[in-house]
Amino acid sequence: MNCPDCGSALVAESYADIQLEGCRSCGGVWLDPGELKQLVQNPPTLEAVEAENVPTVEQVESASPDRRCPKCESGLESYHYAYDTPVVLDSCVSCSGIWVQDGELAKIEQILEKEKGPITDREKAALSVAAYTIEHENEMARQRGLAGFFKLLRRRPPHWRLYV
Ligand SMILES: [Zn+2]
Ligand SMILES: [Zn+2]
Repeated sequence: MNCPDCGSALVAESYADIQLEGCRSCGGVWLDPGELKQLVQNPPTLEAVEAENVPTVEQVESASPDRRCPKCESGLESYHYAYDTPVVLDSCVSCSGIWVQDGELAKIEQILEKEKGPITDREKAALSVAAYTIEHENEMARQRGLAGFFKLLRRRPPHWRLYV
């Protein structure tokens, strides 16, 4: 499998019981459906994944509208994790795999650490709803074949990075 952003060969990595593919060039990681949820529920693992997958080259702004799933070649759609977070993920419209660009896991980590100390039950619930939502949205989009569905979710102001 090759990186949808920079085309480098993805490298298989495993963390506890999570298997993922990482890009050694741009620091992105490819997750199978459900693995993001596992990561979110296991912050130390999420940190390890983030620490391991750092870009070794200058990050290229991936403006290509035609990025493809490294697994099945279907299109990738961008959307905000849990709607109101600055985390932007790309999901395959067909196999529901998730491409996480470098830096996005760190943002999820920040969200998890926001309150310092143990995650509250409310936050835990919100995060698992978010992970479920990703899978559900993919399923809905597939079932309904709504090409514009993800466009509604794709609120990605090109300048938001300036504000974080
Ligand atoms: Zn890459
Ligand atoms: Zn796919």
